Amino acid sequence: MQTSIADVAKNTHLVPGQVMGVLDELGVQHDSTSFEADADILELVEEAARALKGSKKVPMLANRTPRDVAQALGVPQPEVQKTLITKHKVMAQLTTVLKPEVVEQLVAGLGYEVQWVDAPAPAKPSPATASGPKKAVGAQPRPPIVTILGHVDHGKTSLLDYIRKANVASKEAGGITQHIGAYQVELPEGKITFLDTPGHAAFTAMRSRGAQVTDIAILVVAADDGIMPQTIEAISHVKNAGVPMIVAVNKMDKPDANPDRVMQQLTEHQVIPIPYGGDVEVAKVSALTGEGVPDLLELILLQAGIMGLTADPRTSLDGVVIEAKLEKGRGPVATILVEEGTLKIGDNLIVGSTYGKVKAMMDYRGERIKEAGPSTPVEVLGLTDVPNAGDRVAFAADEREARTTAESRASADREKAFAPSKRKVSLGDLRKSLDSGEMKTLNLIVKADVQGSVEAVRGMLEKVENEEVTVKVIHSGVGTITESDILLASAADAICVGFNTRVEPTAKSEAERSKVEIRTYSIIYELIEDIEAAIKGMLAPKFVEEYLGTVEIRMVFNLTKYGLVAGCHVTDGKVQRNCNVRIKRDNEVVWEGKVGSLKNVKQDVREMIAGQDCGIQFDGFTAFKEGDVIEAFEMVQIN
Ligand code: GDP
Repeated sequence: MQTSIADVAKNTHLVPGQVMGVLDELGVQHDSTSFEADADILELVEEAARALKGSKKVPMLANRTPRDVAQALGVPQPEVQKTLITKHKVMAQLTTVLKPEVVEQLVAGLGYEVQWVDAPAPAKPSPATASGPKKAVGAQPRPPIVTILGHVDHGKTSLLDYIRKANVASKEAGGITQHIGAYQVELPEGKITFLDTPGHAAFTAMRSRGAQVTDIAILVVAADDGIMPQTIEAISHVKNAGVPMIVAVNKMDKPDANPDRVMQQLTEHQVIPIPYGGDVEVAKVSALTGEGVPDLLELILLQAGIMGLTADPRTSLDGVVIEAKLEKGRGPVATILVEEGTLKIGDNLIVGSTYGKVKAMMDYRGERIKEAGPSTPVEVLGLTDVPNAGDRVAFAADEREARTTAESRASADREKAFAPSKRKVSLGDLRKSLDSGEMKTLNLIVKADVQGSVEAVRGMLEKVENEEVTVKVIHSGVGTITESDILLASAADAICVGFNTRVEPTAKSEAERSKVEIRTYSIIYELIEDIEAAIKGMLAPKFVEEYLGTVEIRMVFNLTKYGLVAGCHVTDGKVQRNCNVRIKRDNEVVWEGKVGSLKNVKQDVREMIAGQDCGIQFDGFTAFKEGDVIEAFEMVQIN
């Protein structure tokens, strides 16, 4: 009987990683989601798991990825990635191997403790079915996935087309290639997968749906035109995603091409090319003549080599929908990019909130293929409905499981659509975001009417920060607030701030959809004041101890009506009802807590001052003695 690790974890109040540890201890074969067990084994497993109740230790093998950590702790993958970015400033793909100390901090932040373990000795392989989840056998190098970004008309499409024609179409009889949203080129040194929808809007739209598929971004800048507004936007989007960038200075064939000026301008936007002492590779190319394009491809493969991109073709399938449409005569057609595992004809799939069985698969050349491994884009026929770009793709054991999972997701989606949804970040409830522990940086996007005001607003905002909260302007520019600004805000959990500018209607509707807050101002101080106020709200209250007074216990009474009462004399300062006290005997603290009742003779009082006598009872402490010295203090909030 196939048993879900998540179910056992739920039943035994553990996290999945702890259950996997139990399975390893008992020598029960498993993958990351399930194991095969009869009733006896299951009982054994549950018994061993229950014995761990309350333990915070989670066994982990070496080389953990964000996906492994998410699986081990039973938290959603996007949440782990978000925590990595916001708390640990680590930008990682789901399959990137994390440094051990990062894994430890990440796990600690989620309330658990890593217990490093060695890999269990290989047991005899379990028979795996074509569609069933399989045991991971190890990662292998995979092609990088590349997106091209840059200002309009700088040659993104031309460059994609040139690369495709030079490397793909020539092999084809008739030279017809399919546009399926992505294509792959095969060079002697390796393969590269290009996403075919250039531009940062598409890049960030995918990312805001939790599907960061791009490994390397190519920033195209026309050598004759230089850096333009969308170049700056693209830089912000790429930096925010933490994806390595290679610059392609295009249109080098033009007589007025000035690559040095481009590089100079790039440095002004903190993109420092290698010749200028930085670490960003630059290729000088022409999408028209093809000059320099091989160098660009080589740089991509070099970068990929440095990144050590890997995936396991034999593990369970994980993929993402790049684009999807309904085609006459073919039905729903989806381009799926396989990230892990191998997709095969006949597989039952759950794709977002739809499902289906793979009837046919075509590659970017329009050729029918039978299987597709990591980083391979394929067009898939056989889904029952059209999924959304960014939807995740996973195996299902059979059609029934695929249908029921998809149906329950669809109904959850419907409920979500009707439920009043919450904003991502808003100035109003920054405090809550902070309390939930996920936010220490307030990300802002600033748009203004003229460059002068952009700089003024940006400068003032960046001064607002203090030791606990950092204000980070992740993108700023001249002009209206556009849809692309909202997409970036949504992906980066930012607020869009406009100064003397309008919001484009498409941006407004996208902001409503993705719950991004937009604030517009025409007076600069109002803007700054609002941010400052919100940040104050964000600050965790800070308390310091403030000395109130000293009291001596002169006598201990045992009153029938009240019990033990300390008969006291205030020797310095004052003592108050409910104030904090520290009781000292021979200069050693014997108890710390609060004053329960304070009486002058029989009268309840709020405060007694130096020279006065009073009766004190403490909240939960009666072992006081004559001669004990009481230090009274209160905790004062200082922010
Ligand atoms: P996109 O908006 O960034 O996708 O830009 P396109 O690829 O559509 O190119 C815009 C214009 O620039 C088109 O007219 C192209 O023919 C031209 N173009 C693109 N690359 C080059 C190049 O390397 N040299 C020259 N001379 N023109 C180019």
